[in-house]
Formats: sequence, C-alpha cells, structure tokens
Amino acid sequence: MTRAIIVGGGVGGLTAAIRLRADGHDVTLLERNPVVGGKLATFERDGFTFDIGPSLITLPHVFDEVFQLVGTSLDEQLDLVRLDPQFKYTWTDGSQLVVPDDPDETAAALDEFAPGAGAEWREFDERGRTIWDISERTFFAGPMEAPTSLFRRMESPRDLLEIDALRTLWRANRDTFSDPRLQQWAGRYATYSGSSPMQAPATLTCVPHIESRFGCWYVKGGLGAVRDALERVAVDTGVEVRVDSEVKSITATPDRVTGVELADGGVLDATIVVANVDAQHLYADLLPDDDALKQVKKAKRSTSGFVLCIGASGTTPGIEHHNVWFSGDSMQEFRAIDAGRLANDPTIYGCLSAVTDPSQAPSGDENWFLLVNTPPGIDVDAAAYRDVVLDRLAQRGVDLRPRMKFCANMTPADIEHNYRSPGGAIYGSSSNGKRAAFARPANRGARQGLYLAGGSSHPGGGLPLVATSAKIVADMVAADSSR
Ligand SMILES: Cc1cc2nc3c(=O)[nH]c(=O)nc-3n(C[C@H](O)[C@H](O)[C@H](O)COP(=O)(O)OP(=O)(O)OC[C@H]3O[C@@H](n4cnc5c(N)ncnc54)[C@H](O)[C@@H]3O)c2cc1C
Repeated sequence: MTRAIIVGGGVGGLTAAIRLRADGHDVTLLERNPVVGGKLATFERDGFTFDIGPSLITLPHVFDEVFQLVGTSLDEQLDLVRLDPQFKYTWTDGSQLVVPDDPDETAAALDEFAPGAGAEWREFDERGRTIWDISERTFFAGPMEAPTSLFRRMESPRDLLEIDALRTLWRANRDTFSDPRLQQWAGRYATYSGSSPMQAPATLTCVPHIESRFGCWYVKGGLGAVRDALERVAVDTGVEVRVDSEVKSITATPDRVTGVELADGGVLDATIVVANVDAQHLYADLLPDDDALKQVKKAKRSTSGFVLCIGASGTTPGIEHHNVWFSGDSMQEFRAIDAGRLANDPTIYGCLSAVTDPSQAPSGDENWFLLVNTPPGIDVDAAAYRDVVLDRLAQRGVDLRPRMKFCANMTPADIEHNYRSPGGAIYGSSSNGKRAAFARPANRGARQGLYLAGGSSHPGGGLPLVATSAKIVADMVAADSSR
C-alpha cells in the first residue's frame, strides 16, 4: 500500500482522500483547524445556524460519484432538496424576477418581466448547454498543463469557437439581452468563480445553464451536512483524519516528496502528498519554490467577500431561500472591485435557509446570511461596511435593523486567517482574462509525488470544481503508479 498524505481538509482534500483510499492507498488527512470542511463552514448562535461558506450546491452528481466509489450514495448520505423557485432578484427600480426550476416556466417568467426576453433566454440557455457539454469533456476532463491539453481533448476546431472564450461575459450578455436588467442578471454568474463579468470570458454562460438544467440544491440540516458526510465516509472507508494538525513543511529530495513535518514537530513519511491548501501557501511556505510561486502568481486571485450573519426576529413577506438585490450600477460595482476598492452600492446576496429548513432558525425567525463581493486582500472596516450593506438593503425594501437579534461578520482578513487563503480569496484563482483557464496552478506539483487539489488549482473554485480537481489528481496518481 502506498502512503498518501492530504494536506488540508477542505472539500477538495476530503474528496481526494476518499478517492485515493478507494484506489487502495493508505491515506492520512491533516487539517490545521479543529474541524474539517475548510471554507464549507457553519456558524451557530442562539438557535440560528448559518452556512458561512457555500450556501448553494450545483452539480450534486459530482458528489454522488465520490460516494458511489466506496459503496454508498448521495441519497443514502444526505437529504437533498431541489429548490423551486431557484432565486428571487430585485432591482433598484423595484422590479423583481423570480426564477423557477423549470425551463419553460423560466422563459415565461422572463417574458412577463420583459416582453421578448423568454426567447432571448432560450437562445442564451442553449448556448450555455453547448459550452457546458464541450467544457465537461475538455476543460473539466483532465489536467491543464498547457493550452494543448485542452485542444487535445477537443473533437474539432469548432469546439474552440463554440466555447465563446474570446468575448467577455459582459459583451455576450449585451449582445443577448435587450433589457439592461437582464444583462446585469446574466453578468452576476461571473461571481460564481470570483470573477468580474467585464473580464471573464463568455464561456461562463455555462454557469446559469448548469442551474437551469441540473438545479439549485440545498441539503437538509445545512451544507455542513455535506462536510460531515464526506468526513464520515472517509473515516468509514479507512482514511485517518487528523484535525488540529498543522503541516509546517512538505519534506522532499530535489526530485520527489518524502512526507511532511507537522507544526508540533511530528514527521510523517509518504510517497504521495496532495496539497489541498492554497497553491501560494504551498510554494511560499510548505515547499518553498520560487519558480513555482512565480507561476502561481500569474493566476489572478478571485474576489473575497464581506459576510453578515443576522439572527432576525419575525419573517419577511415574499422572501425566498436565495435572494439577490442588485446594485444600481453594476459597472461601477465591478470597476470598484477590479480596482481594489469596496463598492459603495454593492449587489447583495441573501440566503435564508430557514425558508426551506425550519431547523436553521428558532420558530418564526429568520437566519440571514448576506454576502457582498469585495476585492481580495482588502482591509474592511466591518462596522462601517455593515452599515453600507444594511442601508442599501433597507433602501431596497428590507430593513433588518429593527428585527436584528445579533449581527456577526466575516471579513476578507477573517477568510484568509480561517482557511489560509491568501487575500481571503473565496474561490482561489479567478476566471478573469482570456488566459485564466491556462494560468491556474497545475494539479501536478513541482516535485514527483506532489499533487494539487483545491480551488486555487485547475479547474478552479466552487464545490463541484474542487471535487473535480480531486478526481483529476486521483486519476493522475493512478496513471503515475501504473508506470
Ligand atoms: C463566503 C463563501 C461563499 C461561498 N459560496 C459558495 C457556493 O454557494 N457554492 C459553491 O460551490 N462554492 C462556494 N464557495 C466556494 C467554496 O467554498 C470553495 O471553493 C471550496 O469550499 C474550497 O475547497 P478547497 O478544497 O479548495 O479547500 P479550502 O476550503 O480552501 O480548505 C483548505 C483547508 O486547508 C487547511 N490548511 C491550510 N493550510 C494548512 C496547513 N499548513 N496544514 C494543514 N491544513 C491546512 C485549511 O484550514 C482549510 O481547511 C464559497 C466560499 C465562501 C468563503
């Protein structure tokens, strides 16, 4: 049996651990925090529970595949709910759009919102379908060591044109939707990879398609249940999970890794080391390597976020599980973020899981998780920005202040500190720029036996993507071991 060590217990680390164990390796996972899950984290106070990382699951079958490998399934492990409606959107002019979980109903809702928009959306959704189908068998299907890795997996030069990588998402949305509000709506999907619609390629049109085709999912008990299920299944299949175990360095000869040294002085030998930590932390601190670090820094950091967790008394008429209140001027919002400033009129995302799951708040109350995008690495005055967010929300019709039992916050500095994610980048590296897909740190590390699985490496951040990076790594380990 080959000894494999996973450094970091985020979702990429946990899924890599299960996959390597399923392949017969002797696996130990080392997490510096007292709990695994990384950014998939929860916060509880006074009977309220908040998902303070991911609040939305897309592509749940990616997780089912991991569970099936070890003889169980997503349905056996978790109680998933497909949300309908998916989202409620509110603009500053008071207009609202509720997106249902059905393509025909969505087209009808869009037509009602803006005459003619239903047909525009169908064309947009169809383009997203094509892009997703190509991306799934090319970009997501294996490592990305160079642009040729992608081209090799393409069936024809037509694939390259179809993924719409040369236009920005912003440009494509303007070409698609006549109504500026819907241009803004479609641009929001860049933020699912911590990017700006003005810089990210229109390839991201596949993201709203993923929601319309595969649904928006919630897990009963909160998303922390996903973390718990992954940990449970990992342990049941024989992975040794050690929390409160900070890795100080990865030990290596000039050619290959030999194991890790822990902060408490312990040393563990291994033939395989999977770094689930951010690639910057890996090559700056754990296995210092100037060339690799220089390469890592070529990938632009994703956005960070400012989070408020509010326990609110009473209920809000017309509120949904997922809600978005758009900025009055999306251009200024993304320009500010791209320039490293906080937006003073930000788009606000609000998740109230208690709408679907009463276990998440005391009876008759609401658990408000609010998230606003920020640049990575910015120093946020939490009290001042909290007022900006709550003022904007009040201007858009929801004044939470009179109902507030408590309000806790998480800044980019907290995200950096909690998960060792430089700049507090939520998704690791962003999709900004035409070369972003090729600039992410490779899954194959700078020494033999070292692999990278997690949001900062290929194919990027977000739960299904980090689980995909774990699959790519497990496939690579299998191929390398059979040589
Ligand atoms: C506020 C917020 C909202 C989000 N919303 C969504 C969403 O709705 N949907 C979605 O799909 N995604 C969302 N994401 C993104 C998603 O959470 C991440 O992409 C994903 O969880 C990252 O997983 P990862 O495997 O890269 O590891 P991480 O979660 O980054 O975990 C890495 C782990 O490594 C540990 N570690 C670091 N250094 C060391 C060391 N030296 N030794 C030992 N351990 C170490 C850290 O403590 C951490 O636990 C959100 C993230 C945040 C923060």
